[in-house]
Amino acid sequence: MTRIHFDILTLFPEMFQGFLHTSIIRKAHEKGLIETQIIDFRQFATDKHRIVDDAPYGGGDGMVLKPEPIFRAVEHLLKERSEPTEVILLSPQGEPYTQQKAQELASASHLILICGHYAGFDERIREHLVTKEISIGDYILTGGELPAMVLVDSISRLIPGVLGNRLSPKADSFTDGLLEYPQYTRPAEFRGYRVPDVLLSGNHQRIEQWRRRESLRRTWRRRPDLLRSASLSEEERRFLSQLKKEAPTKE
Ligand code: SAM
Repeated sequence: MTRIHFDILTLFPEMFQGFLHTSIIRKAHEKGLIETQIIDFRQFATDKHRIVDDAPYGGGDGMVLKPEPIFRAVEHLLKERSEPTEVILLSPQGEPYTQQKAQELASASHLILICGHYAGFDERIREHLVTKEISIGDYILTGGELPAMVLVDSISRLIPGVLGNRLSPKADSFTDGLLEYPQYTRPAEFRGYRVPDVLLSGNHQRIEQWRRRESLRRTWRRRPDLLRSASLSEEERRFLSQLKKEAPTKE
């Protein structure tokens, strides 16, 4: 049964072609775990020329996306489905996107993603239509299409069955609030650089402990801000205090 239906409102549907038909996202469609519908919201404009933007009241540079086509498109999509829906506006002014937000959204069944372009949106879309406004980072992109792909990708891979058996999101960075531990593969020695002995020991308990500690060490050095909300055991807290005494926070 399809777990999440994504409706994506955009003026540039062609941008999604490669993304939706490649790799894990393609397989997620084939397995029936996700469905995506790309809607060109220009078709919901009512005037002869299908105009979706206009100059800002009060003057200024750039164009603003008009409310009517986006309201009409969303209302049409809400009528098509009966399950609860999050209507998400992609915008640099939204709440910062994190792995935790991806996890929360992965339990939804219907998500409508609205991609802006040009200068921005008529404020009434924000105030009276959307349920969430999400930013993928403190920088400005030309449109919301890449952010929409970021959401579809990060949410879909958390749906059970999407990644298959060989990949698990459990050890990924951020899943438990920490960065992932260092990974190595064959050969055991490359140009004189050796893989840490513990990983060749076959002792699973020691390997687990090493990984958890390296994860803590890396997080402390690269992203100490993450440690404020990570859940740590007493032993891990002691290890962290020791790290803080010994090492600066830059790798
Ligand atoms: N003038 C707008 C502002 O300052 O908020 C930025 C408009 S931007 C050029 C055009 C569109 O790209 C936005 O409406 C939004 O949909 C999308 N966009 C740009 N940067 C984004 C970001 N960091 N996160 C999410 N969406 C973004």
